Amino acid sequence: MNNDKLLVLDNVTKVFTKGQGFVKSKIEAVSRVSFELELQPPEIFTLAGESGSGKSTVAKLILGFEAPTSGSIYYKGQPLEHLKGKREFIRDVQPIFQNPFETFNPLKKVQNYFHDTERSFGSPPRGQYPLTERSLELVGLTAAEIKDKYPSEMSGGQLQRASIARALITNPSLLIADEPVSMIDASLRMSVVNLFKRLKEEQGVSIIYITHDLATAYYISDRIAIMLRGQFVEIGSVKKVLDNPLHPYSQLLQSSVPAPDPRDRWTEDIALSDLEAREYTRQGCKFAGRCPRVMEICQRQEPEHYRVDDRLVKCHLYR
Ligand code: SF4
Repeated sequence: MNNDKLLVLDNVTKVFTKGQGFVKSKIEAVSRVSFELELQPPEIFTLAGESGSGKSTVAKLILGFEAPTSGSIYYKGQPLEHLKGKREFIRDVQPIFQNPFETFNPLKKVQNYFHDTERSFGSPPRGQYPLTERSLELVGLTAAEIKDKYPSEMSGGQLQRASIARALITNPSLLIADEPVSMIDASLRMSVVNLFKRLKEEQGVSIIYITHDLATAYYISDRIAIMLRGQFVEIGSVKKVLDNPLHPYSQLLQSSVPAPDPRDRWTEDIALSDLEAREYTRQGCKFAGRCPRVMEICQRQEPEHYRVDDRLVKCHLYR
């Protein structure tokens, strides 16, 4: 089943319970999300949305850090629950975190991460690390540039490239990159973004790119899913969705082009603001409280996904 797919998410929902004792509430952080990545050709698929939209929770579900409450995830045709924690899966699906200074222990030399990873996934000849050298070369670094360096002795851009290189040692098929450029100086951002593009084109690596930054998403992605309160509200080719967004929330997001928010982290999803909590628990369309085109039906009935111009749009305007 699904043998021609790299990744399949089928109606995936993740519910978190907040609060204690009698005062508990449930939040659907991810709500019936479905999408597929083909095995070939490789693809850069972006998840975009505001802080608290659930995009980092989707990443954690794919990495097996969280289990879905319902729905199924398949990787290369196999159910994810059969693969979690297995060597082949860990090799094949690598995360790239937002803050490279948190990825590396400040007291450990950067080169040791590479050597440890290489040793745990192969048996390099004594004193030689060919996979380390190859992966550093792929990101435009050399062994000399990391030799004997602690993380604080490297720039944010260099260190993020080093963290991508470390992920590449295992020759992965899929990278899950959560806000990978938001902590990096604007001047260095494009070098990392271009690197993702090259990895897809030259190494055949697929990438799930999670971001607030629609400019870089437009530049590197093939497809984009716009997320609002755990739901995909518009999904399609990045050119169509960002050149001519159809969902009123995509239109708002595209016109405001929010800057990357360093507070939006892997661990942050269920610390909700009042607005977020209200929208998560709202009946009907989650965007009805802010939508300039709201109709009476939007308050009481959740819209389905409608196919319009080769994309899916979750909005009653397109019934
Ligand atoms: Fe706006 Fe209604 Fe569409 Fe929701 S369903 S985005 S409230 S028009």
